Amino acid sequence: MKRTFIDHVVIQVQAGKGGDGCSSFYRDLWSRFSKPDGGYGGKGGDVVITADRNTLTLIDLGYRKHFVAQKGKNGQGNDKTGEEGKNCIIKIPPGSIIKDAVSGLILRDLTKAGEEVIVARGGRGGLGNRPRREATKGEAGEEKKLYIELKLVADVSIIGYPNVGKSTFLNRITSAKSKVAAYPFTTKVPILGSATIGNKEKIFTVCDIPGLIEGAHKGKGLGHDFLRHIERTRLLIHMVDMSSLEGRDAYKDYINLNNELILYNPKLGEKIQILVANKMDIPGAEENIKKFRRNFKGKIYPVSAFSGKGIEQLLAAIGKALN
Ligand code: GDP
Repeated sequence: MKRTFIDHVVIQVQAGKGGDGCSSFYRDLWSRFSKPDGGYGGKGGDVVITADRNTLTLIDLGYRKHFVAQKGKNGQGNDKTGEEGKNCIIKIPPGSIIKDAVSGLILRDLTKAGEEVIVARGGRGGLGNRPRREATKGEAGEEKKLYIELKLVADVSIIGYPNVGKSTFLNRITSAKSKVAAYPFTTKVPILGSATIGNKEKIFTVCDIPGLIEGAHKGKGLGHDFLRHIERTRLLIHMVDMSSLEGRDAYKDYINLNNELILYNPKLGEKIQILVANKMDIPGAEENIKKFRRNFKGKIYPVSAFSGKGIEQLLAAIGKALN
């Protein structure tokens, strides 16, 4: 299945209707008059949105769009109250903003995992019949259209030309279950993944540049959406292919990519970058990195995303830079 990057969705939520109150009369063999004994209807379920640490994107909401909580059960004779309807729980990534899609008002900003908010309340159950009172119907549940925007930003964005090894690297450092979503410019790569550095979860994203910038220039909305996210990441891992196996010149790539970034948005050029030389396992890479160092005086992290060599030192440096 081809999945895409989504940074906002509009969904419809409908809380459960309250169960109806019951109208019932009881008369035993010896009484002359019957006695009302209708129970109350159960409350309808609420629609609750919760910030879940294992949810990284809004993709699943984009597929479903309609969320309905259960109705409350009707009351019964013998003063039996109807069961409450089950809540409908919607999981979104921490760092999402929930707005009323009609008024545009912000209902809640869920920043931390575990926070939750009732976005539509279930209707109250109807009243059971009592002396001098008629049973009533349950109230309708609230219904709303919500706009949810993902403000979650990856901590680290791995940028580089296609095929330098970005997704191989991401695959190596992230757990399989956290992998999500490819974007249409390169359908093969996961775009977000979370990795533990020190003992904290950090979210990584992969970004093919210049492909994405070209996409953005061609007016493909996704390119812009995605680059906006990159603008908000704290750290860039700039990855180059040091093997020149595919005829790439790592230093030229490095310079070109940075120029592209600055042309697109000067702020992107100001971000902290960690330079990673990948594919160091390939013969010739050692020679190339020597040449690279003649032009580039900063720190270089040589790694092999393939074998894992150098990755630990790199992760330590990423952890340090983020702190
Ligand atoms: P991306 O387009 O930057 O995400 O690049 P990929 O991760 O898809 O890698 C492109 C190709 O390079 C794949 O065939 C990988 O197996 C290979 N590759 C990635 N990293 C390494 C590495 O460290 N050493 C070697 N020898 N090959 C690598």
